[in-house]
Amino acid sequence: MTMRFFNTYSRSIEEFEPRDPTGHAVSMYTCGPTVYSRAHIGNFRAYIFEDLVQRHLELRGYQVHRVMNITDVDDKTIRGARQAKVPLAKFTEQFKQAFFEDSETLRIKRADQFPAATDQRYVDRMIDMIRELIARGLAYQADDKSVYFRINKFPDYGKLAHFDLTQLQSTGRVKHDEYDKEHIGDFALWKAWDEEDGDVKWASPWGPGRPGWHIECSAMAMALLGDQIDIHCGGVDNIFPHHEAEIAQSEGVTGKKFVRYWQHCAHLLVDSQKMSKSLGNFYTVPDVLAKGYTGRELRYALLRVHYRVPLNFTWEGMKEARESLSRIDEWLGRLRAVAEKENVQRPTPNAQHQIQPDFETALDDDLNISAALGFLFESIRETNRAMDENNLDAASASAWLDWWKRINTVLDLEAETEIPVPPEVAELAKKRDNARREKNWKQSDELRDRISGLGWEVRDAKDGQKITPRVTSG
Ligand SMILES: [Zn+2]
Repeated sequence: MTMRFFNTYSRSIEEFEPRDPTGHAVSMYTCGPTVYSRAHIGNFRAYIFEDLVQRHLELRGYQVHRVMNITDVDDKTIRGARQAKVPLAKFTEQFKQAFFEDSETLRIKRADQFPAATDQRYVDRMIDMIRELIARGLAYQADDKSVYFRINKFPDYGKLAHFDLTQLQSTGRVKHDEYDKEHIGDFALWKAWDEEDGDVKWASPWGPGRPGWHIECSAMAMALLGDQIDIHCGGVDNIFPHHEAEIAQSEGVTGKKFVRYWQHCAHLLVDSQKMSKSLGNFYTVPDVLAKGYTGRELRYALLRVHYRVPLNFTWEGMKEARESLSRIDEWLGRLRAVAEKENVQRPTPNAQHQIQPDFETALDDDLNISAALGFLFESIRETNRAMDENNLDAASASAWLDWWKRINTVLDLEAETEIPVPPEVAELAKKRDNARREKNWKQSDELRDRISGLGWEVRDAKDGQKITPRVTSG
């Protein structure tokens, strides 16, 4: 098994080989949300793509250590807090919570760490890096007191985005607030405090101020994953200047290659247009749920297109997502029914369903999810036909269910199932409820034990009793 990914840095498909000499551990950094508003579905397309990368690596036996940062200080968050007249931390907290809520709705696996840019530990690290860059002649403090990266001193600058930055030099006027820079392309590492920043400031050797967005990611990535990272992901609009700047800062400090594989997810369009608030086609996860769709359906809609192809979000597409998922649900229901049946009928020789590993090999090939899903639906058609003809035996049905269980660790598309409570248990629970109302605790406890003996657990919640299958250890 070899896995291949498109690397934005080389603009070619490369075989994946992690740095870890044992070949198991993979370090992965993904740029997280800037928490100044609720993330939109375009942002979540990228997060779902990153989820796919992680889950497929894990399916293939890799141990992934993933870090996703939270940008909770930048121009937009400061502006938002000022407008709302609340402290920055209070302003960003609501959007952090919203981000985690939406991620859960979309079944996105949590990263191992979510470092926040305002954490003093990381601010210290950013300051150390900037100091080092100045010492190496790669950064300078300008007259406006801010510190900038000197891109002319870093010959590789522009290699990720594949363009020549010397071209920028000749372009006429420079914005007023940037005239202190040596080169128009020089980017801020440390932004000197000004009145608009209010009480948002940290002490530094260059005076009070705050870090630039790019250095935040370099510092947090290196603090948690080391100087060299296997995979770094983001949306295509992160390539320049954000990721280009990350390379310059990190490699400028360490002199080592920062990232082995750069992966970028294409845009999301809505009705073939760029999503924007003014066009009225700007959607968040709750907007989609409000139309009656589930997180699972949105997950499917955002997952099903290859990550390097722009995804066109439409309500028609949401309906298709619903239909596709109900096909999967029905298929699983049928397979379960067949698997549970005793093997009444002997399978005919041509009913031996050999499950091919095509789903996984499609994902090995630069995460070709469309091909992988194509294979899934083809398998559904074939097995359904076999079941129509009474030609699938219980063992084959179980094998398909096992296969589904495996690929569903990547897809995470199964419907939430509530296991029905057997009538006998429900009856005992009802008696117990009555006993509690009569404050007959002894009887209530006895009934609880009897329920437990049947493999169920009863808990008392505010809105009544909750009956769930008893979790047994071992
Ligand atoms: Zn970043």
